[in-house]
Amino acid sequence: MNTIAKPLPDLSDPVTAPFWAATREGRLTVPRCTFCGYRLWPPEAVCPECQHAEFAWEEVEPAGTLWSHATYHRALDPAFADELPYVVGLVELTCGLKMYGIMRGDLTGMAIGRAVTAVFEPVNDEVTFVRWALATGG
Ligand SMILES: [Zn+2]
Repeated sequence: MNTIAKPLPDLSDPVTAPFWAATREGRLTVPRCTFCGYRLWPPEAVCPECQHAEFAWEEVEPAGTLWSHATYHRALDPAFADELPYVVGLVELTCGLKMYGIMRGDLTGMAIGRAVTAVFEPVNDEVTFVRWALATGG
């Protein structure tokens, strides 16, 4: 049994804090530049298009398609050794942005292009991670 605590996000970081506040409520959000409208993922301190430093966080559909995936047989971080082997998916969200996440659930039939949905996985009262699962019935 692994006893190493898994790394948690820094909730005091203003660049990412809105994301974690939303996942706690089961919502998936991404930043949009309030000057030029560019939407990005992952969040950055300044807009890569215009260098503006203010963003509005927009809720996006917690769904997309599997763009790529990899199965980890060795833990790059020893804190994840208890989950081996695990699958990390790169999901192309319905809004077009791409987001990495650990895959959960039955992955039978997993393939590039399969529909996936977000799974909001609380790890404590403050942090809820976004994982992904194959969509069913679609
Ligand atoms: Zn911008």
